[in-house]
Amino acid sequence: MKPEAREWPRERIADTLKANARRMRKDPTEAEEKLWQALRNRKLNGFKFRRQQPFEGFIIDFYCDHAKLGIEVDGKIHLRAHQLQYDQQREAYIKEFGVEIIRFTNEQVEKDLKAVKKRISETLKERTGNFPSPLPLSQGRGVSTKGGRGEGKYFCFSSLFQKSGWLSPAYVSVDEKGIIRSLSRKAPEKPIAIEAVQGFALPGFQNAHSHAFQYAMAGLAENHPSGIDDDFWTWREEMYKCALSVNPDQAEAIAAMLYAEMVRHGYTHVAEFHYLHHDKDGKPYSNLVEMGERMVSAAKTAGIKITLVPVFYQKGNFGQEPRSRQRRFISKSVDDYFKLLDASQSVVKSYHSGSLGFSVHSLRAVDLADIIKTFVQGPKKLPFHLHVAEQKKEVEDCLAFSGKRPMQWLLDNLDVNERFHLVHSTHLNDEELSRLTKSKANVVLCPSTEGNLGDGIFRMKEYVKMGGHWSIGTDSHIGLNPFEEFRMIDYRQRLVTNKRNTFEGDAARTMINESVTQGRMAMGRETSDHFEIGQPFDALIVSATTHLLAHTSDKNRLASILFTGDSSRNMGTIVNGNWVVKNQHHQNGHDIKVTFAKVMKELKNR
Ligand SMILES: [Zn+2]
Repeated sequence: MKPEAREWPRERIADTLKANARRMRKDPTEAEEKLWQALRNRKLNGFKFRRQQPFEGFIIDFYCDHAKLGIEVDGKIHLRAHQLQYDQQREAYIKEFGVEIIRFTNEQVEKDLKAVKKRISETLKERTGNFPSPLPLSQGRGVSTKGGRGEGKYFCFSSLFQKSGWLSPAYVSVDEKGIIRSLSRKAPEKPIAIEAVQGFALPGFQNAHSHAFQYAMAGLAENHPSGIDDDFWTWREEMYKCALSVNPDQAEAIAAMLYAEMVRHGYTHVAEFHYLHHDKDGKPYSNLVEMGERMVSAAKTAGIKITLVPVFYQKGNFGQEPRSRQRRFISKSVDDYFKLLDASQSVVKSYHSGSLGFSVHSLRAVDLADIIKTFVQGPKKLPFHLHVAEQKKEVEDCLAFSGKRPMQWLLDNLDVNERFHLVHSTHLNDEELSRLTKSKANVVLCPSTEGNLGDGIFRMKEYVKMGGHWSIGTDSHIGLNPFEEFRMIDYRQRLVTNKRNTFEGDAARTMINESVTQGRMAMGRETSDHFEIGQPFDALIVSATTHLLAHTSDKNRLASILFTGDSSRNMGTIVNGNWVVKNQHHQNGHDIKVTFAKVMKELKNR
């Protein structure tokens, strides 16, 4: 057993590596020196190389960051202890970051430098010639969110956040499918390659409410002509125009860009509340679930988990036929909707990180008797999502039509329970709030969208005091940073109550624990802790070395992460044990952006 492998805390690695790198730069082998003379000062095609570059816990002899190309000259001393197997593991691991390693022997460098230079030059050209982006393109569509190497991998984080607090340091091993196999403060006994990360692992956030196509119009409805009251309903007309304009290819490209951004911000799972079902003329596509399939495909490309929630949308308003501009959303009957739901079931099965929910859009969008029928005859185990009481006008219309307020109607007519995920629930009276809490249903809050649309403020302080449950979503995607959503949830209560304590105790811990646990239920998943053996490893990693966080105690860390700073401290996001985003770069980022740019040019709406 090699003691240096068993005791491999990240501080030691970093120091040892740095010292090693410095020593090796001072004392290169003859071959290394010869090659360095050929590479230094951008001598080879203008590419900048560094020598003895520490990289994710290893040292690469020569490294060009722009081309993500490493060069190794064999015959050196620093890896002798681990040798061949270690080299192979290391190379496979480095490859996962898009870095290619090419190798030469001492002899090749010493005897035929010209050939060596030629091969490096060709490789540089291959890797950068067609792509101005420093990021290499991934192969094919879809990010691999399965484990990269056959045998899984090991991480060591500075700290990892569980419901009860921090595990420090946190050694996490995952198998080839990205399932957590061990979780410990102690280093593994066996000598094994470990990725040491100076970061804090938080559970991947759950985005429990999304309308992906609306991302195409984010920020476009913020110019308000004088003399006209701009509200949710005028915004909705703009949204309808957007909904009518996108074809399946475009919808997929928009969703892929959006989902990639979600992952960059730390969301690892999205519930897509999907109602853009049909063709532009309102007729179903020959493949009934064409558009749903595109959402799942976009999730695959972006490496995010998806719960597709096909939405039953039938009416224009209470008792009114649908408007022409709603034609892409419409299922005429419960049976039509169930056909759509059945077909969606096979779509989500095609993606290992896909699952299904079901839904009616809102009380105003489906005949009330059909809402009851849909829930009663619908799937018995899937999460059930719907919008409720978002707008005051909607509450008034419901009262006029049915004699009851929306939440009241729902609680009176359905067996509301923990399978319900009630989006917004903004306008509730005392009785509704109390009955809602007792029902154990979950409220999905979308603070940035609710603020943007002028919806109103959910009565969070009273709700949590009574023990109510909730999760978060980004809805229209005007904001995509989960920490911002949390801050808004808390601050809007502080602003209306003139008190600071929306939550008792550690506000950050309460918010993250609640939104992750309930968010998973919105996806149809129940877990007891954030990270568990046997569960997939999905995490947002926040840098442990930034100025505030580096000097913050365990006790104050989570609040410092949530209440201060922005996404620039995110080191990356791991889905199923794999870095999907690292250092702000998405594995498929280049492809996704190129396709998105093309679609934006076609749509000409920005
Ligand atoms: Zn919504």
